[in-house]
Amino acid sequence: MSIRRFLIGIILLIIALFLGLPYFSNMFSPVQIKKQQTLVKLYIHDQNKIVNITLDDYVMGVVAAEMPASFPLETLKAQAVVARTYILKRLNSGGLLNPPHAGADICDDHRHGQAWISKEEMKKRWGSLSYYYYYNKIAQAVKDTRGFVIVYKGSLIDPVYHSSCGGKGTESAEEVWRFGEPYLVGVSCPYCSDPRPVQNSFLSVTKVSSLLSLNSGALPATGKLDGSTRSAVPLMKVIRYTHSGRPKEIKIGDNIYSAVTVRDLLNLRSADFTMELVNGEVEVTTRGYGHAVGMCQYGAKGFADHGYSFGKIIKRYYKGVDVVKLPER
Ligand SMILES: [Zn+2]
Ligand SMILES: [Zn+2]
Repeated sequence: MSIRRFLIGIILLIIALFLGLPYFSNMFSPVQIKKQQTLVKLYIHDQNKIVNITLDDYVMGVVAAEMPASFPLETLKAQAVVARTYILKRLNSGGLLNPPHAGADICDDHRHGQAWISKEEMKKRWGSLSYYYYYNKIAQAVKDTRGFVIVYKGSLIDPVYHSSCGGKGTESAEEVWRFGEPYLVGVSCPYCSDPRPVQNSFLSVTKVSSLLSLNSGALPATGKLDGSTRSAVPLMKVIRYTHSGRPKEIKIGDNIYSAVTVRDLLNLRSADFTMELVNGEVEVTTRGYGHAVGMCQYGAKGFADHGYSFGKIIKRYYKGVDVVKLPER
């Protein structure tokens, strides 16, 4: 063998090692997660105080608050893993930069993270007869999944979820927020079981004009042509759609908005909506409930009804993730 061929061989070997090593080290290193925290400092809004509760009690309260307890056990288990991943990610990342409640890890308001309810609240919500049945069902979901979390390439994910995609499939995070994640991409939701995916509500022209800061006269004053027949005048034009086919940018009057902004301003169920003027009022028709990113809860119910386990359900909604069990302490 010539020196030259030998040297080329060495170089190729170095390149191969250089490219291959991260792959092999990823394959053999354990999941990069710190030890499981066992206590959660929870701020309770109504009582204006922080309580220390166990991770299990925290996950229990979130599943009870965020999902109908009548959902199948596998769906409740998926929700338990999602809730656990959510709080552990927050605890492991050292908390939020600007936490809304100093000294607390999280609170019980869904707008600041995840909703959480106490046993007393569960009793009120379900009635004392159903309480024991539902409490035990959720407790089983938490116990059966104890230690299980969702990871992407070894790191805990941000497991966002919503009530219903309306059957349209889920939305990519980057279409809704300014950031995307490789595991938060739109997927189909074949068994979405929302009993009322499409809903409508009526708002006055004045209210819509003021909430959207529209110029006076931007919306037609009346769509009523005849007292007895329904006349609908479209009030918005979709300029751009998301990949899943939801409105992304819309025009109302002379103004251009993101659909997400209009959803927030008008407090709509979802950003997948149409607006029409019907008999002098603004009729808003929405599909689905929530931001449509991550796990669709009604879709997760549908998967469980079709025999999917919690792990399979989770992997359907968060692309490329693993559901792993943290080592017991
Ligand atoms: Zn809060
Ligand atoms: Zn769905």
